[in-house]
Amino acid sequence: MQIPDYHVHPDYSIDAKGSIQRYATTAAARGLPEICFTTHLDLDPLRATEDRWIRDRGERRSFRTLNWLDHYWEDIDRAQSEVNGQVLLKHGLEIDYFPGFETFVRPARESYPWDFVLVSVHCLEHIAIAGQEESGPYLARHTPEETAEAYVMAVRDAIASGFGHALAHLDYFKRQVSPGFRPRFLAALAPRLPEILELLQRAGMAMEINTRAIRTYGLGEPFPGTETLALAVRLGVSRITIGSDSHRPEELGNCFDEARQFALEAGFTTALTYQKGEINGSFQL
Ligand SMILES: [Zn+2]
Ligand SMILES: [Zn+2]
Repeated sequence: MQIPDYHVHPDYSIDAKGSIQRYATTAAARGLPEICFTTHLDLDPLRATEDRWIRDRGERRSFRTLNWLDHYWEDIDRAQSEVNGQVLLKHGLEIDYFPGFETFVRPARESYPWDFVLVSVHCLEHIAIAGQEESGPYLARHTPEETAEAYVMAVRDAIASGFGHALAHLDYFKRQVSPGFRPRFLAALAPRLPEILELLQRAGMAMEINTRAIRTYGLGEPFPGTETLALAVRLGVSRITIGSDSHRPEELGNCFDEARQFALEAGFTTALTYQKGEINGSFQL
């Protein structure tokens, strides 16, 4: 049995390609039992980059109007009616953390009965740290150790917001390729992982295993990596979701065999599914 894909970006996200309908038919053709759309919700008013736009049925619009959420919801419902009995489609979001995000995000978070919400930390000081495009000025001012500390504080806040059913791609900044960054970042992050994992557990949240680290970034392990997965199991974390972080329909379910292997080796046994914010199923790995 294939595992549901719980991290999927249709073309509502400006950096993604492929309509909700295309994703639905691709998922059905690939025999995926279920996928959850998790379009980006990044409402940070201090970010002036491409990701402050949304593509609403082909039209570029500001994220902040939020009218697009009705279309997003309806498009998933319409696609579901086309693939009924083949694949289950879930309504979700990937909410981007920034300090004070609660006020901005709450209307979107609370106005719809989302099946599943990921919370993510992509930015520090409103700068996307994982990639090369904009991280330079931040990394010129902060050591990898300081970056790890700031990441931990952001993740703690993101968990405490109560917005997420799962934490997306823990250790995401390891994809940063500045010379020497990754080992120092990971070494500084490691002693802080137990507190993050305990907070997750106390919040009843799941940890996402994200395969984009393997597929797109060639890191040879998912977000989070082997040691973190094993640590999570030792600390009693049992709730996981698995996501491809697809930005194109053909990426659906990619590297899920590897994800299953990593999860099983760490000691996880099942991956969860959600409905209207509650766990409603678990798939044997
Ligand atoms: Zn993300
Ligand atoms: Zn994503």
